[in-house]
Amino acid sequence: MTDGDTATAAASNSAGTRLLIVGPPGAGKGTQAVQIAESYGIPAISTGDIFRANVKNETPLGLKVKAIMDAGDYVPDSLTNELVSDRLAQPDAAGGFLLDGYPRTADQVVFLDELLAARGEALTAVVQLVADRDEIVERLRKRAVDQGRSDDTEEAIRHRQDVYLRETGPLIDTYAERGLVLPVDGLGSIDEVAARIDEALASRGIRPTASA
Ligand code: AMP
Repeated sequence: MTDGDTATAAASNSAGTRLLIVGPPGAGKGTQAVQIAESYGIPAISTGDIFRANVKNETPLGLKVKAIMDAGDYVPDSLTNELVSDRLAQPDAAGGFLLDGYPRTADQVVFLDELLAARGEALTAVVQLVADRDEIVERLRKRAVDQGRSDDTEEAIRHRQDVYLRETGPLIDTYAERGLVLPVDGLGSIDEVAARIDEALASRGIRPTASA
């Protein structure tokens, strides 16, 4: 990194783009998160990916959370909040970030609010991917076959949808009350959905940084 790059990174801190992407499991959040991260020059941080990597590597955290994830339940807030706090402290998140799959409970919303307030930051927008439940269950069944994900048994898929509706659905109202939510139709090709997200973000003056 040159001095010029450092200055640019520092200058972008206060004006950084801090996004959440929310939506039911299987709505395509992970795929879109990677695209958004690339276009807007911010890291995509997926708590599910971090937990899965820990399970795969059989770390102490992974051993703790494997059974919870396989059952389709939520990892306790204390573990999840600590993981996010550590991840957001990494230098690449200083100028903005996109959180995928977090926060998922009311407690996590409060934790994130306090974490950001302590950094003198606030969320810029919340992208809500909206998708039909039947379509989602079908997508997840396919993904389970393609990727051999141990947490994708049919029972776990159904259970995760129920947990999402109960625990995470209401959080969208919380963010909507703050005027942050941008609902986006999640049905269609990856590029179609990505274009809708770009349009929604542009309505808030958030534009891609990558030269298209
Ligand atoms: P995901 O890939 O986002 O669907 O996450 C996969 C699994 O990781 C979830 O079913 C939970 O068991 C766990 N997980 C991921 N993010 C969170 C979170 N914010 N709170 C609690 N558990 C989580």
